[in-house]
Amino acid sequence: MKSYKHIESAFIQGGIYGDKTTGAVNVPIYQTSTYEQSGLGENTGWEYSRTGNPTRAAVEALIAELEGGTHGFAFASGMAAIAAALNLFKSGDRVVISSNVYGGTFRILDKIFKNFKLEYTIVDTTNLDNLENALTPDVKAILIESPANPLLTVTDLAGASALSKKHGILTIVDNTFMTPYLQRPLELGADIVVHSATKYLGGHSDLIAGLVVVKDERLAERLAFIQNATGGVLAPFDSFLLIRGIKTLAVRLDRHVQNAETIAARLKENRAVKKVYYPGLPDAQGYEINKRQAKNGGAVISFELKENYDIKKFFRSLHLIALAESLGGIESLVCHPATMTHASIPYEIRQKVGITDGLIRLSVGIEHIDDLLSDLEQAIKESETIK
Ligand SMILES: *Cc1c(COP(=O)(O)O)cnc(C)c1O
Repeated sequence: MKSYKHIESAFIQGGIYGDKTTGAVNVPIYQTSTYEQSGLGENTGWEYSRTGNPTRAAVEALIAELEGGTHGFAFASGMAAIAAALNLFKSGDRVVISSNVYGGTFRILDKIFKNFKLEYTIVDTTNLDNLENALTPDVKAILIESPANPLLTVTDLAGASALSKKHGILTIVDNTFMTPYLQRPLELGADIVVHSATKYLGGHSDLIAGLVVVKDERLAERLAFIQNATGGVLAPFDSFLLIRGIKTLAVRLDRHVQNAETIAARLKENRAVKKVYYPGLPDAQGYEINKRQAKNGGAVISFELKENYDIKKFFRSLHLIALAESLGGIESLVCHPATMTHASIPYEIRQKVGITDGLIRLSVGIEHIDDLLSDLEQAIKESETIK
């Protein structure tokens, strides 16, 4: 075990460090499906790589340490991680989800788990009274994100977890947007943290991965069973890439957030912009709560242009920032939630929760701030229809 006090060091030295056999400073990629056994019932502790693989075990130990949990589980995608968490429940159970939940989370509940009679209720969890009112006796868990995509709405994680405890149910937090560098839900009372590690943890848009972290022995046993039984595990090479990505998380996020804070302030001053959604702005919904539970507002911003700006033209006019799904990579990306990330949410629900057709989501990268500002500002100018 390495000795350190700060999470910045844990990103680099945490979990299982290096390789004892050779002294290699990196965990080797154990590219193997199986392990030779010395006799019947005698093995090294490793039997088959769906059940356990040393490279995967290293990233699992690392995320558990970073989130303040006891056990981590690595999956082939964020959705596989979320599906594994939902596999904890059975038919007749109900899960409460926030109204701005990730589109894929809504889809898997609505189109797959519903077929097995695991029901869901959509609630605006920014209001804890709404949340408590939705906790009917069949509700077994709440699944929340804060800030939630794409309007960056903040839910009081400690408050929500306290409600769950009171009702004897589980709190699951998708911590993808914040990462353990900015927010640690288990310390706020949550039971399960899930991640799309595809985003900031991987950080380089070169990997699809998912993680689950718990702090309870019984839950860990059940998740280990689910992981092995359903089999959507993270491959050894991708486990290595994820460890490598996590090493630079703190320095990357410091720059991501610095750029995002500057851009959010500048967009707010821009007369073409109708509204800016960013939890780091003092007048944002949930600003005070976010300040209490997270280090800062993160690095995803959404904004709406005024009616006399053509959004299609805006996307076409960007020369640096790419139009693409996903977020959390070092390069800046924009997307159109209504037709891209949140297209699987029916139109009526989209309107109800505020995902309008004019909404733009920006994942702020770590390019030079002046290049980002000038690209955004020239594209906004280009998209004006009535001059
Ligand atoms: C991307 C994302 C997911 C899904 O993760 P994949 O790695 O794409 O499967 C889940 N939750 C949130 C908040 C995400 O942004």
